[in-house]
Parts: sequence; C-alpha cells; structure tokens
Amino acid sequence: MVRAIMTQQKATNITWHEAHVTRADREEIHGHKGATLWLTGLSASGKSTVARRVEQLLSERGIFAYVLDGDNVRHGLNKDLGFSPADRTENIRRIGEVAKLFTDAGAITLTAFISPYRADRDQVRALMDEGDFLEVYVNAPLAVCEERDPKGLYKKARAGQIPEFTGISAPYEEPERAELVLRTDQHDVDGNAMQVIGFLEDRGILARG
Ligand code: ADP
Repeated sequence: MVRAIMTQQKATNITWHEAHVTRADREEIHGHKGATLWLTGLSASGKSTVARRVEQLLSERGIFAYVLDGDNVRHGLNKDLGFSPADRTENIRRIGEVAKLFTDAGAITLTAFISPYRADRDQVRALMDEGDFLEVYVNAPLAVCEERDPKGLYKKARAGQIPEFTGISAPYEEPERAELVLRTDQHDVDGNAMQVIGFLEDRGILARG
C-alpha cells in the first residue's frame, strides 16, 4: 500500500539559495560529520531514553548532538496533527525535513518517534543524502513495553480510551533494513547508548573517543 502523500509545491517565484558556507565547512568546524539516527519502535521501547543518553554522552565529548522528540514536536510544529494514518504520515514527513536541516547543519540528530509505517520511514530515507539516514530499531517485545508503561498509555489503550494506539489497535511495521538494532530488554540504557556511539565511530561519523 502506498501511504506516502505527495506534498505539492504551493509557492511559486521562489529560488533555492546556495550557501557560501558548505556542509563540509561546518563538519570541519565541528570535528565530526552530521547524520540522522532515526529511532523507531513501540511506545515505551526506550527511544527517548536512549536518544537522551546518547545526546548527553556526545555533548560531554563536545559533539553537536540534538534530539527531536515525539511529544515535544507534537506540542509545536505538529500540533495540528493527530494519529490517523494520514496525520502520522505528515508528522513523519515534517520531522524528516527538520532532521534533514539539522543534519545539514552538522548535528548528530536523533529522532525518537514511533514512526510505525515502513513507507513513511523509507520516504524520509529517500529525502536524505545516501548514508545520512540511519535507521535504528529500538526493539523490545510488546509485553515488555506494556509492562513498563511509564505514561500509563497501554493501560488506557487496553481500556479503549486511546484509539489507534500502536501495538494495540494500530499496526507497527518492523524495519526490514535497519542499520542498527537495539534490544532494550536485554541491555541497559548505557549499554544501548554505547552501542549507538560505537556504531557512529565504526561508520566514521565520529572519531573514536
Ligand atoms: P519511548 O520513547 O520509546 O516511548 P521511553 O524512553 O519514553 O520510550 O520509555 C522507556 C521506558 O523504559 C523508560 O521508563 C525507561 O526507563 C525504561 N527502560 C528500561 N530499560 C531500558 C533500556 N535498556 N533502554 C531504554 N529504556 C529502558
């Protein structure tokens, strides 16, 4: 099923401005490359927790890292969107565009969104330059996520109080070609965060710390 909505270019008479400072210049200033780590997984799988820990560890090393987080983005940029399939798709499209800008700015950008549809994630991958989009599957079994339930959302969803809740009454399509898989039911937060940082080093995005 093609879920992607082709977003129309509405404005005319607009010109793309080439910058005098290039991405390569910015990466040299920062001392590392930009990239987007796109964390996907069920609610309570640990996306935000791992992303924040990675951000903290990288910041301590003087690396420019930034987390785009689900609820925070829904408070602002995407406050007009709900959880229908079309709104979820638009939510991810906009976040993808923002992540692309942050990556161009040279940040290690971590996004923490359920992003349940494979087609939506692939659309963001297609939007970005080759190698910039790194899909990270934050994997914990549904039963573990439901047991954790830090915000009480699964309880509400089981009681029928949240329609279209991923894993309960809405689908989650597992990644088929994630660059990295984290098992948050098998490793602790620091173990997962170190796995992410090691992966960035292996890819040459960061120098070894
Ligand atoms: P998500 O962003 O995927 O909805 P959160 O990070 O908000 O998930 O919540 C995950 C919960 O699971 C937190 O309460 C966190 O403390 C707990 N947790 C337990 N083990 C881990 C782990 N290894 N990695 C990440 N979170 C973990």
